[in-house]
Amino acid sequence: MKRILVTGGAGFIGSHLCERLVKEGNDVICLDNYFTGSKDNIRHLLQYDNFELVRHDVTSPYYAEVDEIYNLACPASPPHYQYNAIKTMKTSVYGAMNMLGLAKRTKAKILQASTSEVYGDPAIHPQVESYWGNVNPIGIRSCYDEGKRAAETLFMDYHRQNGVRIKIIRIFNTYGPRMNPNDGRVVSNFIVQALKGEDITIYGDGTQTRSFQYVDDLIEAMIRMMATGDDFIGPVNTGNPGEFTMLELAEKVIELTHSTSKIVYCPLPDDDPKQRKPDITLAKEKLEWEPKIRLEEGLKKTFEYFEDKIKE
Ligand code: NAD
Ligand code: UDP
Ligand code: UDP
Repeated sequence: MKRILVTGGAGFIGSHLCERLVKEGNDVICLDNYFTGSKDNIRHLLQYDNFELVRHDVTSPYYAEVDEIYNLACPASPPHYQYNAIKTMKTSVYGAMNMLGLAKRTKAKILQASTSEVYGDPAIHPQVESYWGNVNPIGIRSCYDEGKRAAETLFMDYHRQNGVRIKIIRIFNTYGPRMNPNDGRVVSNFIVQALKGEDITIYGDGTQTRSFQYVDDLIEAMIRMMATGDDFIGPVNTGNPGEFTMLELAEKVIELTHSTSKIVYCPLPDDDPKQRKPDITLAKEKLEWEPKIRLEEGLKKTFEYFEDKIKE
């Protein structure tokens, strides 16, 4: 069985990944500084001998002997990554460098959780991996977008210069149980608002689009990517090509939750991308993967999670 390090393992995606890896019998180290993650997300794994929890910040060096590294540590929702923009950049860049140093020393395979945000406000639709993107380098989203772009550069250079065995995946908007109710991203905001009977806040006119991937589909893609041979390093898009406007999403959430909430319109944040949809041809070919969970089904599972969470 493999020794696997998951940075950001106590976060939304990281906790699902740790769960899958532990249940497959691997020896898992979950590393997190609990900035946006929580022990609650992985408490159920503490009972397993093959799960270990470490409080650590990836901006500092970390030493362990491992076979694989999944690098997820980084706040992902705009309010959280903008809360301390300089720290976000440090987490992306120093975090990547430290984990690449660790991979170089241990000869571990390392997977980077990159993002569709590297495409910025895309001029090409749907987005293919060969598109270089349209990112504002000096805006309020830049700490995240450019931090993730710099991390991809570091991954490629450690691969070319030091032969590090890398994998890069570009994750499109992902949702599901264990999102933080205060996360600030659109799916959790709308569901929590609908459940509490509060106004549903659409930013801008609601015509901007996103493609939403259910977390289980993403985890399957991550595992498959890590299992590919050393000749395939990506970057590869992982996302659900179903594309929805935020107005359509709000209406779906209201319908599903039978909520009495009303839609209200709020100012659109700066640099908010107008459209987002992955081209997943490469993932289909190289990973033999495509998403299975439709938006209605995924929203229902997420809604059930938040219903219980809000009662706590
Ligand atoms: P999340 O905020 O729930 O998880 C991030 C985790 O990283 C948290 O547990 C947080 O405490 C931890 N962390 C943050 N800074 C750290 C640091 N300096 N040292 C150690 N740990 C630190 O977000 P998520 O949605 O689970 O995202 C996980 C990863 O996937 C992130 O790298 C994110 O950029 C990437 N991603 C997510 C999405 C999405 O839609 N959820 C889309 C694209 C990419
Ligand atoms: N590093 C780490 N864990 C390790 C090996 C390296 O955190 O097991 C850190 C190291 O402290 C350095 C970074 O990773 O800051 C990059 O490592 P590299 O070997 O490329 O750089 P160098 O040590 O030569 O500066
Ligand atoms: N959004 C919204 N209401 C909210 C939160 C977000 O209308 O309460 C919009 C946001 O402006 C963006 C889309 O929903 O156009 C997705 O936002 P999110 O923060 O989830 O992800 P990202 O912008 O990083 O894709």
